[in-house]
Parts: sequence; C-alpha cells; structure tokens
Amino acid sequence: MTDKNTVIIIGAGLAGLFTALKLAPLNVKVISSKSLGSGTSSQWAQAGIAAAVGQNDSANLHKHDTISVGAGIVDEYAAGIMVEAGPNRINDLINLGVPFDKESNNKLLLKKEAAHGINRIVSVNGDMTGKAIMKTLSETVKKSNHIDVIENFNAVELLKDQDGIFGVVIQSNLDNKKEQRLYSRNIIIATGGIGQLYEVTTNAIEAKGDGIAIAARIGADLSDLEFVQFHPTAFNIGIDPAPLATEALRGDGAKIINENEERFLLRSHPEAELAPRDIVARAIYNEIKSGHKVFLDCRGVLGKSMKETFPTVYNFCKKNNIDPEKKPIPIAPAAHYHMGGITTDANGKTNIAGLWACGETASTGVHGANRLASNSLLEAIVFASIIAKNIKSLPNKNLIIKNNKFSQSNVVEINSKDLKILKSIMTNKVGVERNGKELNEAFNDVSILNQKYKKINQINNTIITSLLIIKSAINRKEHRGSHYRSDFPETNSLLKNRSKITIKDIT
Ligand SMILES: Cc1cc2nc3c(=O)[nH]c(=O)nc-3n(C[C@H](O)[C@H](O)[C@H](O)COP(=O)(O)OP(=O)(O)OC[C@H]3O[C@@H](n4cnc5c(N)ncnc54)[C@H](O)[C@@H]3O)c2cc1C
Repeated sequence: MTDKNTVIIIGAGLAGLFTALKLAPLNVKVISSKSLGSGTSSQWAQAGIAAAVGQNDSANLHKHDTISVGAGIVDEYAAGIMVEAGPNRINDLINLGVPFDKESNNKLLLKKEAAHGINRIVSVNGDMTGKAIMKTLSETVKKSNHIDVIENFNAVELLKDQDGIFGVVIQSNLDNKKEQRLYSRNIIIATGGIGQLYEVTTNAIEAKGDGIAIAARIGADLSDLEFVQFHPTAFNIGIDPAPLATEALRGDGAKIINENEERFLLRSHPEAELAPRDIVARAIYNEIKSGHKVFLDCRGVLGKSMKETFPTVYNFCKKNNIDPEKKPIPIAPAAHYHMGGITTDANGKTNIAGLWACGETASTGVHGANRLASNSLLEAIVFASIIAKNIKSLPNKNLIIKNNKFSQSNVVEINSKDLKILKSIMTNKVGVERNGKELNEAFNDVSILNQKYKKINQINNTIITSLLIIKSAINRKEHRGSHYRSDFPETNSLLKNRSKITIKDIT
C-alpha cells in the first residue's frame, strides 16, 4: 500500500489543529479521540495567550519572565524562538477569525497575569479564550479540503522500521475497539497533558498521557516528566474535569478553611491565602492528606456579588447547587499542566526519524520546571507552525507497505477499577509533595498493576506513562519548581539540568 505524503497528526486540540491548518496544501489525517471540537484541554483554557504584542513589550522581556519562572532549567534558545514568534502567531489566529477582546481604540486588550512583568495576555470574552479559539479552528478545519479528521479513534501504537516512523495503529472508541492502521513517514503527536492520572484535575478526560507512552515504546527520549503543575483551588465536587476557582477570588477576600472553619494556611505562611501558589497548594494537599476537608469560603459580601464579579465560578456553583453566599465551596489542588513530555529539538523533532511532537505532550524545554501563565497555548501554536514548515520543506517520499495484513494489537485501555487505584497512588504519593519512600512505594504499586496486564500479554499506555513520571520524580532528589521533595526540600545547584528518561529506565 502506498500513502504518498499524507501527514498524520494524533490529537485534535490547539496543537493538532493548528499544525493541520499550517500543513496546507499537504494532505493531513487528524486522529481525534472524540468528535472534532470536544475532548481537549484547549477548549477549557480561560485566561488567554501570552505574547509580546504590546507597545512597551518585547520578546526579550517576555523571555526574561519565562526564564524567571522556570526555576533555572528553561531551554533559553527554545524560549527565545517561542517569544519571538508570538506576535506573528497571534496575527495568524486573528486572520483565521479569532475575536480577541479589544480596547475602544481597536487595539488588542492586554491583560496581566502572575509573574508577567507587563500586560501581555490576549483573551476572548474575558475567560472564554480556549472555547473561542477551538470553535474558530474546528470550523476552519471542517472547511479545509486537505484535512481529513478521523473521529472517535485513539492512537495506541506507533510503527517504526529501520528508516524511522511509518505508521500508527488506531482503535475505535465506539466500535468494540476495532483497529485500523494508517501509514506515513511523518507523524506528529499532539495528545495533550496527563492530568487524568490524578484524582482531581482540570484536564480533559482524554488527557491520560497516551502520547508519552506510545512514543516511549518505540524508543523516543522523554524529558522533565517529574514536573507537574498543580492549581491550588479547583472545585472538589466530583466533576471531571474539575472547574477552576480562580486565584482572583482569594485576592478579593475568599478564605481557605477546613471543616472546623480553621484557616490552617496561617500555619504555613503569614500571608495565608495570598501566599505563593505552590505553598498554598502544598498546605491544602497536606490538610486533605491528614483527613480533613478543605473549602474556599466566599460567604458574605463576596458571595453576594459573585454573580457579577466572577460569573464563570458563580455559574459552576449554581449548576452544582452551591450557594456561595451561604456555603463554602469544596476545593482541592488539581493536576493542571505537564511541563515535561516527549523530548523535541527547537524544530519539534524527536529522536525518532519522522516523529514530531507538539503542544503539552512535547517537551521543548520552554517551561523549565514551572510554566509561566498563558505560555502553553503560545508554545502550541509556535511549534505547530515550525513543525509544519519543516515537514513542507522535506522531499517527497513514497512509502511502500508490502504486507498490509495485521492482527489486533495487544494494547488495551485501563479498566475503571485499575484507573481508580492508579489515580489514588499518583495523587497520594506522586502529587503536590513527594518523598523517596512514597515514590518508591508508588513505583512498586504501579508496577504490580502493570504486571497484571503483562501477564496476560496486554499493554497499557496509561500505566506506562505513570511509571515514567514516577521514575523521573524518584530520580530528581531536590526541590525545583513544581517538583517538591519533602526529603530534599532545598534546590541543589548541582542538579540544574533538564532530566532525561526512556522506556529502558522502567523495564
Ligand atoms: C482549565 C484550564 C485552563 C487553562 N488555561 C490556560 C490559559 O489561559 N492559557 C494557556 O496558555 N494555557 C492554559 N491551559 C493549558 C492549555 O489549555 C493546554 O496546555 C493546551 O490547550 C494543550 O493543547 P494540546 O493541543 O497540546 O492538548 P489538548 O487540547 O488537550 O488536545 C489533545 C488532543 O489529543 C487527543 N488525544 C489524547 N490521547 C489520544 C490518543 N491516544 N489518540 C488520539 N487522540 C488523543 C485529545 O482527545 C485531544 O483531541 C489551561 C488548561 C486547563 C485545563
């Protein structure tokens, strides 16, 4: 079988769709776990995209802020590429029809977020940025003849020969796991984050880190997997994904309390609710771990005005029968963003010929050990564009598949009981705060789960990604950025490097 010059993209979030559009006129197949426009974290993005588009801003200032937050291990070259390209990529989105908020003089409205030295966040309708961008992109993709979206399929395995990548096995999510093979010498992984390995997460249900496992299984290098960013205050009311209770609520006076109405944060930091994000997240995490329940208390004036001042949070409360004026909101830290992923160079290339990675599943190094707010959407569109340009410049190559007969792969989805066990291990032992003893216990416990599948000759991508994250967390014996080791609570200047891991490290 010959499939000449069709590019395959795994994942239909911002990274996947933007790459697909930029690849025109090449033929593209996009594999989407769900129907186009759903099943992505991109659609939940609220605040916006950071880019140096303001008059008093510059790529250098944006780069400076990115590096400051990244805790010493940002790849400065890659970060430079990202911030330089930012304004042009925002223009691309505007040209596609994304209705960014504007000031009365018709200039882009620029907002400020934590750790940005200047206003540089572009947004749509305040906190509806992801929804608006994904709507525009999905509509454009539907009208684009060069793009074929294969909906409701999961990529479960990559195919590689001596010349590099040549195809992917996809499994139907609707039709009894029926499999197909698609062939290409250029495949882009854009499967998003790993939040769903944890009990409480803001990420889409599909964010189980499949891309990391399928790439690792054919020998891809991975970096910085230990760095998982937790948002301190997500709704803990059994909704999946968990809605965010924005940090601005605390700025406006919301208090964090336990079931005894105690402001336990005062024990961790004199500024309590207004302490740095990681301190707040760790204090809440430890309170829950020691058996307490934690709430965001907006009762009184704040709760009363919330309908006007925080409409998104108010609507979540209303939908879930919480009257914020009278009742505190149950909260927990939520797995929010993965800084690590499949190692790529500044061209988006992995170490496997023809395999590229983009968006949250990639590790370009731009975030270091912690992500600067609103840099993730920017990273996705900048490297999507670079990958597309690179692929378009490659010579045409015929791909001959001599034997197109194949049997069903032995990849299976994790069953719901095992997923529950896995999430509990990841949350309690590989979460906001880690230590060597519990990380090793977690590695053993998840290995036992893995063995259960292996014994009956089955492969589970979710478990493999979890093992790789745990091993990376075991390896980094220090506190750096989002990775806090209670047994090594100081940052060690000798460990000021990005981490590397491959499948061989867990087998
Ligand atoms: C609540 C929330 C708010 C956020 N706010 C912001 C913000 O304001 N600014 C910012 O910069 N960032 C924000 N982020 C982060 C940002 O949204 C994500 O990092 C970014 O959208 C990731 O895009 P992506 O395309 O890589 O992944 P996604 O958008 O998650 O897309 C991944 C795609 O891969 C598919 N997929 C997964 N596994 C498979 C498989 N095996 N086979 C086939 N398809 C698969 C999924 O279904 C999906 O289509 C926020 C995130 C959340 C959750």
